[in-house]
Amino acid sequence: MGGMSKVPAADPVLGFVLDFCNTYDLLEDPPDRLSIPLVGRVAEHHGLPGFGLGAGELEPVRVVRNQLYGVFAADSASEQVEILNRLFSTYGAVPRLVPGSGGTSVDGVRVAATGGEGAVARLAVAAADALARAVAEGSADRLRTCAGDPCRCVYVDRTKANRQRYCCELCNDRMASAAYRRRNR
Ligand SMILES: [Zn+2]
Repeated sequence: MGGMSKVPAADPVLGFVLDFCNTYDLLEDPPDRLSIPLVGRVAEHHGLPGFGLGAGELEPVRVVRNQLYGVFAADSASEQVEILNRLFSTYGAVPRLVPGSGGTSVDGVRVAATGGEGAVARLAVAAADALARAVAEGSADRLRTCAGDPCRCVYVDRTKANRQRYCCELCNDRMASAAYRRRNR
């Protein structure tokens, strides 16, 4: 971990994936807050059209979330690649050229995974594509889980030094004061 990797480009879908994965949060009671309306609100928060998930699709959506989580928890880039390729084939992704960060100009296009039959599959493919893009563009080691015991939330390290250990300021402060109490006991 660490080193010369790239800070991933700002991508609303990547932002969505983080919040989606963090609907399971050990600091919450109960830890699992996943619901279909919550996924809709998270998508909306990131400016994404909803995926049109049905009320009965909570369990398959949970399965997708847990697979996406595995990308952040993985020990190596090759494990991340394996999980993402499995997601693409499970949910029927098809490759398509889409406008990249350069817009619609020819040098701006990139290959994206798109498609998926049904709302759950569309969600899975779009989310996996955002992670695959980060991995392919050299940010694999920046997709991580929080070291702020018991928190295991996912985050993207966007700092230049790439040494962030916690998902948020709250965990950072929580762990700093725990260390302080240990030293002064
Ligand atoms: Zn945390």
